[in-house]
Amino acid sequence: MRTASLVIVGAGVIGASLAYHLARRGWREILVLDRSHGPGQGSTGRATGGFRAQYATPTNVRLSLLSRDKLRCFTEETGGSAGYLPAGYLWLASTASELEVLRAARRVQHQEGLTEAVEVGPEEIARLNPAVALDEVIGGAFCPSDGFISPVGIVEGYLTAAQRLGVELEWQVEVTGLRRGQGNRIALVETSRGPVSPGAVVNAAGPWAAQVGRWIGLDVPVIPLRRQVAATAPTHLLPDTMPMTIFTIDGFHLRVREGRILLLWPTPGVPGRPFDTGVDDEWIEAVVEKAHRRVPAMRRSAIDRDACWAGLYEVSPDKHAILGPAPDCPNLFLLNGCSGHGVMHAPALGQLLSEVISDGAASTMDVSPLRPGRFREGDLNPVSEML
Ligand SMILES: Cc1cc2nc3c(=O)[nH]c(=O)nc-3n(C[C@H](O)[C@H](O)[C@H](O)COP(=O)(O)OP(=O)(O)OC[C@H]3O[C@@H](n4cnc5c(N)ncnc54)[C@H](O)[C@@H]3O)c2cc1C
Repeated sequence: MRTASLVIVGAGVIGASLAYHLARRGWREILVLDRSHGPGQGSTGRATGGFRAQYATPTNVRLSLLSRDKLRCFTEETGGSAGYLPAGYLWLASTASELEVLRAARRVQHQEGLTEAVEVGPEEIARLNPAVALDEVIGGAFCPSDGFISPVGIVEGYLTAAQRLGVELEWQVEVTGLRRGQGNRIALVETSRGPVSPGAVVNAAGPWAAQVGRWIGLDVPVIPLRRQVAATAPTHLLPDTMPMTIFTIDGFHLRVREGRILLLWPTPGVPGRPFDTGVDDEWIEAVVEKAHRRVPAMRRSAIDRDACWAGLYEVSPDKHAILGPAPDCPNLFLLNGCSGHGVMHAPALGQLLSEVISDGAASTMDVSPLRPGRFREGDLNPVSEML
């Protein structure tokens, strides 16, 4: 039977980063399996490419700062292109309570060393993004080192570098089951190309992570959540360097990518069809109406219906990643539930889980708030609905 020291289920940005970091630590016979046809076919290729360190918890800020260091030297490390462009993230508050949430988060950010994150008033907002109508805005938050990254550049960079270091990567292979053996360990990975006997297994299946757990009766609390994106026809109305601009009142945000303006606004998924990635016409109408009101220049743009898309967030109950050995299964590791931050945090998370798998613990930062057992223990991270 085929053997592998470690089988990674999923070659999205998370599986790719982990494969690279393990290989760099000298691991051999790593097998990465993905049922799709090539890089970026899961959530990774649907991401809009935002990067931010403006979070509300120390753990998420630290993950971003570690990732940011790694994004800055991504080309030297992997030969690929992460496309890091520090254009900033601009949060806009329309009530005093929203402003207070941003302030509380900034106190955490400053404690963690993100001192360039600042409060901004209407005048500063007008300078940072002159396109925004200020009538609903009383203030906000800005961090100049936040900005944009290239999801496909990052996944391809890690996969190529991993393969150079000997990682075996196979597309169009469906993992269909896991079987336990002695000591509750995974003894067999069943695939559409036959079984594999693994030393260890990593669940990097993105929004499909819960399914992987179900094969061995393990609850991996990750649910898919549809996110829709409305794209305009190519336009010069707004510059590519415009900061990601977010209205905290309802999460509506916009950026410019490759000459198109992308509009996002979080809504619940499709009832009863959690993996549906269709785009609703009514949603487009509603998001365009918001855009016209809040960014008046948008009235001169047109939506390109064929360029609109949707993808799936992989949401955990506390909107923090799940990283570490699975409870009750010593050779299964989880790297799931990034809750819509997976591309920006992949460089950090891949490194950290490679430390856990190799050394039994992470040395770069404390990952105990991300341990899989926290849900059973009822020790969740604080959830911020805004950021
Ligand atoms: C619209 C949208 C915008 C986003 N914007 C951002 C952003 O600005 N910044 C950011 O950081 N993140 C963003 N995200 C979130 C980001 O895309 C995800 O967090 C990230 O891509 C998760 O990576 P992953 O590798 O876990 O999942 P995926 O990329 O989905 O990879 C999982 C892989 O597992 C494979 N797989 C699953 N089950 C099996 C199986 N049984 N057998 C074989 N293969 C299997 C799938 O084919 C897939 O390729 C966005 C997401 C969406 C939808």
